[in-house]
Amino acid sequence: MSPQPSPIPATLIPGDGIGPEITESVVAVLDALGSPFAWDVQEGGNAAVAKLGDPLPPPLIDSIRRTRLALKGPLATPVGGGFRSVNVRLREEFKLYANVRPARTLIPGGRYDNIDLVLIRENLEGLYVGFEHYIPIEGDPQAAAISSGVNTRAGSRRIAQFAFDYAVKHGRKKVTIVHKANVLKVLTGIFLDTARAVAQKYEGTVACDDRIVDACAMQLVLNPWQFDMIVTTNLFGDILSDEIAGLVGGLGMAPGGNIGESAAIFEAVHGSAPDIAGKGIANPTALLLAAAMMLDHVGRDHDANRVRAAIDRTFNRDAVRTGDLGGKATTRDLTQAILRNLA
Ligand code: NAD
Repeated sequence: MSPQPSPIPATLIPGDGIGPEITESVVAVLDALGSPFAWDVQEGGNAAVAKLGDPLPPPLIDSIRRTRLALKGPLATPVGGGFRSVNVRLREEFKLYANVRPARTLIPGGRYDNIDLVLIRENLEGLYVGFEHYIPIEGDPQAAAISSGVNTRAGSRRIAQFAFDYAVKHGRKKVTIVHKANVLKVLTGIFLDTARAVAQKYEGTVACDDRIVDACAMQLVLNPWQFDMIVTTNLFGDILSDEIAGLVGGLGMAPGGNIGESAAIFEAVHGSAPDIAGKGIANPTALLLAAAMMLDHVGRDHDANRVRAAIDRTFNRDAVRTGDLGGKATTRDLTQAILRNLA
């Protein structure tokens, strides 16, 4: 028997709400694979605000700086108190410019079958740069609100290049550039033009077309199978990736990876689900699929495929499913079933 490769140092952030419950499930599954990661567990979100006054405290940031690899449960952004979105801050801190959101049908027979789509979202630019302010008019201090978006040629080139390289690496056939250059001619025109120029270098290897975002949103509902990969700007990617998660059974099934040059952070697309936190009924699949993406990222494809196959058997052969998928299983029931199915 070949010796087990040594565990890879990685930061683990259980997070808020259902975070600790689904993290426990994921850690149990990874332990059964021989613990491929050596976890440095760090508090973030509300727990860290209570103890250290910051949802992203220095020990958490230092840990990711050291490991350059993290699995993150959902972090709630405290409402009020002047905190910027913790997720946006993390992306900026580690320049995680690419958000990778794959969506595949895991349970056949739903409204849409055989979905297999990857959305690549630009993660640092666009309208999420947070250049916002009010303008006072006639005694009303908040009479008008202004927000500026920033897309750069370098940022657009980097994300387009990432998308086409991903397509080549994963054997995908087509990338659709999604934009709104008919109205936001400058802000999203620069993205479209730059991405088209990048696409030319892949002619003959990866096909390319483009869509206006509103038409794309409609076509995703009418005929999602026409898409293979989508690359788009920050806000459009945020919205379309939730729409795409809806095609495969909702947020409980959607993982995401935030990739930069010096770090990668994997997470579920969903939030902390405060409405079901502590009830033991959360679906851990999205975070588990995020962990599988993390295994792919570090070259442990075999383990990643074992996780995905175990999830498939659990849902489809054993019909063990959590409430959000129409089943009755608790988080723990689902975890036990996945553990039994790890071949
Ligand atoms: P949410 O994703 O937490 O919940 C939306 C709905 O989906 C809820 O009804 C919830 O019960 C359900 N749901 C989500 N995940 C589920 C799962 N794994 N299993 C079963 N059901 C699940 O969105 P929200 O309520 O708008 O946000 C709550 C908090 O999460 C906010 O503070 C927000 O800022 C934060 N948030 C964090 C992230 C992140 O960390 N990446 C992403 C989105 C929202």
